[in-house]
Amino acid sequence: MTGAGDLQLQTVDLSRIYPSGEGQVVALRPFTHTFPAGLTAVVGPSGSGKSTLLNLLAGFDQPSSGHVQVGDTVLTTLSEAQRADFRLANYGFVFQNHNLVSILTAQENVEFPLTLSGVPPRERRDRARALLAQVGLEQRAGHLPHQLSGGEAQRVSLARALVRDPAIVLADEPTGNLDSHSGQRVLELLTAPARPGRTVVLITHDRDIAALAEHRLEVHDGEVTVLS
Ligand code: ADP
Ligand code: MG
Repeated sequence: MTGAGDLQLQTVDLSRIYPSGEGQVVALRPFTHTFPAGLTAVVGPSGSGKSTLLNLLAGFDQPSSGHVQVGDTVLTTLSEAQRADFRLANYGFVFQNHNLVSILTAQENVEFPLTLSGVPPRERRDRARALLAQVGLEQRAGHLPHQLSGGEAQRVSLARALVRDPAIVLADEPTGNLDSHSGQRVLELLTAPARPGRTVVLITHDRDIAALAEHRLEVHDGEVTVLS
């Protein structure tokens, strides 16, 4: 299976204000940006708006103003079901908590995005096997998530994110719970197999990891600054 062509990820005047009791929280101030292909690290203190930004980029959340554009598609113009299909076709996700399905084996978890999109069983299995091999876990294919270490589960999660060869990968502190060795490995895998044109947006509180990224954004109090 081949991935979608290059898709440029853009924000235009994108903002998010959450209602909060009587008042409101300005979680993201109007932000216009074109994400370059390659790795962009997003840094900033806790509560600054990093996850808010990522959730908007994914179309999980709706902006208070502005929009996210992916290639020719404006996410806000899609219905919820269309957004789900669009995500499945074009995005991969890695979360801090690996979010694996607890009753599925590592192999079945990696196959899952392919199952959802109707890929036949044999192709699913081969593709998932190949990805598990890439993350060094072919020996763990039959294990359930609770039988894996934190680092292993995170690598399975990464294999699942990449199994459809997505144009865009969004990662919210994927190395947060890992020791530095596992974290380094996840980071390498996230960046190394990037095919030309893939856009990876990585939230991290780790300055060393951020320093490895080609591009950096810093978020403070909902204000995003382009560092490089
Ligand atoms: P970060 O990921 O940088 O830690 P978040 O994007 O999660 O920050 O949060 C940014 C701000 O928005 C914080 O002040 C947080 O409390 C607030 N916030 C996040 N999600 C919600 C929500 N669903 N409802 C109300 N406030 C929220
Ligand atoms: Mg967060």
